[in-house]
Amino acid sequence: MATSDGDGWIECSCGAKHWGLHGAAGVLIVDPSIPSVLMQHRAEWTHGGATWGIPGGARDSHETAVQAALRELFEEWGVSETLLEIVHDEVWTDHGDWSYHTVIATPARKFDVTHNAESQEARWVALDEVRNLDLHPGFAAHWDQVELTIAGLLKSL
Ligand SMILES: [Zn+2]
Repeated sequence: MATSDGDGWIECSCGAKHWGLHGAAGVLIVDPSIPSVLMQHRAEWTHGGATWGIPGGARDSHETAVQAALRELFEEWGVSETLLEIVHDEVWTDHGDWSYHTVIATPARKFDVTHNAESQEARWVALDEVRNLDLHPGFAAHWDQVELTIAGLLKSL
């Protein structure tokens, strides 16, 4: 039986504290037709409360980044991986002691989000408006890199 052994803060060599003893991962769902991305408005009580980000969380030691990201997505939004097509899983931010992995997916078909208490809202946001939101600092730190990757992907989607 697999156990959750990734929950906890790590004191990173970059000077910051990050969530996830084995790193963390999240899923960014992209609708290429607008283009837009499905953003999470985080609940007030969460770390970085009421900011915007994506569903995700700590990796367990037995999980790949993709497995962790999809597990968190299902826990937080009730969206199963069967509703998605993963188009990119190699956007990394690597701090040595800690890493964050953004998995990029497109909807394979229409779906509804039934979010749990960690979100107050899930909303499609136009790609070029994401940076205008009050972003979670962790997400904001990765956004330039992720946006660049999406721009490249959109040419082939
Ligand atoms: Zn760090």
